Amino acid sequence: MKVLILGVGDAFTYRSFGTSAVVQGSQGPVLLDCPDLIHRALFEGSLKSNWEVDVGTVDDVIITHLHGDHCNGLESYGFAKLVNRLMGKSKVMPRLWTHPGAAARVWERLAPAMDAPLTKGGRKSELRDYFDLRLIEPNMTSMIQGLAVECRYTIHSIPTIGLKLTDGKGSLGWSGDTVYDQAHIDWLSSCDVIVHEANLGPVHTNIETLNSLPEAIRRKMRVTHIVDNFDPDCTDIKPLVEGELIEI
Ligand SMILES: [Zn+2]
Repeated sequence: MKVLILGVGDAFTYRSFGTSAVVQGSQGPVLLDCPDLIHRALFEGSLKSNWEVDVGTVDDVIITHLHGDHCNGLESYGFAKLVNRLMGKSKVMPRLWTHPGAAARVWERLAPAMDAPLTKGGRKSELRDYFDLRLIEPNMTSMIQGLAVECRYTIHSIPTIGLKLTDGKGSLGWSGDTVYDQAHIDWLSSCDVIVHEANLGPVHTNIETLNSLPEAIRRKMRVTHIVDNFDPDCTDIKPLVEGELIEI
């Protein structure tokens, strides 16, 4: 499994992209979260990794939750995919995979910018004009571009999921935004690589807590969603780097 790290930043970053990645399934790429400047994040990630991937080639997006640093790119992504369809470059309606709590409210975020009629005098646009909405829930496995994807709710300020993705050969755990939750780490622990968030404040996981995990877990863990002045010497868990390509 090939994973391109697009962003490692948090909600307040001035130097990074929001935490996000592209995972290569056997049938195509899958975007994990869609932060601001998603086109540029993909462009720069492609340049650094030599894996050419852009919004045009990504038809599946998984959204962990509706904080802007994880979903602000959906508007531009949705419009870009629409333009591609209108120009005949693609016939695919992009699939937006998320949990019921986010699915119920994502249009509240997008509608003020996206609900104009697509034709003069036509009806107001709806979410289905931009996205094929697919629900993912705990205790179910979804096949997304050849990847088996499972999710679990985290402890965060709004409904949020973590993810486990596997192509049958390797597996990636993705914590999503969460406070330290041992049960969540136990759930992720079956994966070959665990990407865990590390940030400050009451709705995130402090790096000191991850430092106290058993060595066997820390060895396969990488941290993301880090502050701009994150000190890599404060931990033996390697922070992810933007443009990094991970082979699992
Ligand atoms: Zn969040």
